[in-house]
Amino acid sequence: MAVDYHLHTYRCGHARGRMADYVRIARERGLREIGFADHIPIYFHAPEQRPSGLAMADEELPEYVAEVLALRADNPDLPIRLGIEADYIPGREPQLAVLLERHPFDYVLGSIHYLDGWGFDNPDFLDGYRGRDADVLYHRYFELLQAAARSGLFDSLAHPDLLKKFGCRPRSDITPLYRKTAAVIAAAGICIEVNTAGLWAPVGEIYPHPIFLRFCCGFGVPVTLGSDAHAPERVGSGLPEAIQLLKQAGYREIATFQRRRRTLIPLE
Ligand code: ZN
Ligand code: FE
Ligand code: FE
Ligand code: ZN
Repeated sequence: MAVDYHLHTYRCGHARGRMADYVRIARERGLREIGFADHIPIYFHAPEQRPSGLAMADEELPEYVAEVLALRADNPDLPIRLGIEADYIPGREPQLAVLLERHPFDYVLGSIHYLDGWGFDNPDFLDGYRGRDADVLYHRYFELLQAAARSGLFDSLAHPDLLKKFGCRPRSDITPLYRKTAAVIAAAGICIEVNTAGLWAPVGEIYPHPIFLRFCCGFGVPVTLGSDAHAPERVGSGLPEAIQLLKQAGYREIATFQRRRRTLIPLE
């Protein structure tokens, strides 16, 4: 009886299916609780400069919120939470804070999808890896993840080593970077997300790396669980593997949220 807190919707432009079908499949797979966390509008670019196909438009945000709340009302026996996946962009914290205050979110996932303007997880920009040093990228990525933790904007940090998505690996041992980052997240009092989408990405691994997860467990950082489903049939996929990984890292509980207040429940 797992929880899936990272479901997208057709509004982002690169996911498909009716939201009701995500709910139906969650039921079929016996999930005990779900949360939608679609991509927040690209608030950090002016509306006329926003690329299409990455996130919902401004006017879709209230519609998204209303549809999640309606699904919740229609499904009294399955808790359906209102989440959002929000890009962390240093310097743009006040803008994001304003947006987040407008809606009754249960939780906010913070994501690093950009390194200084480069959308490194977008298959259209793979050439950005050429000529860049993996260790430099890893240090910048984790520096941003630490800043996201300290920002106070987020409840959980989504796919917290997304940089490995296309197989980019550090050249040197980054254990100290994992340890330091886990300590910063613990001090911030927020969660990290164990995200199974990496199983279907070129890297073929759950996010984050088991060593990082172990440090997080050691420092008492709770976790949220998510498939990052962009299609109904992906709801809950990989969660048994994620639960296995969590147990190996030492976890016994996972985090759930209501109106941004955390409750830990037993893993399984
Ligand atoms: Zn997406
Ligand atoms: Fe993401
Ligand atoms: Fe996502
Ligand atoms: Zn994501």
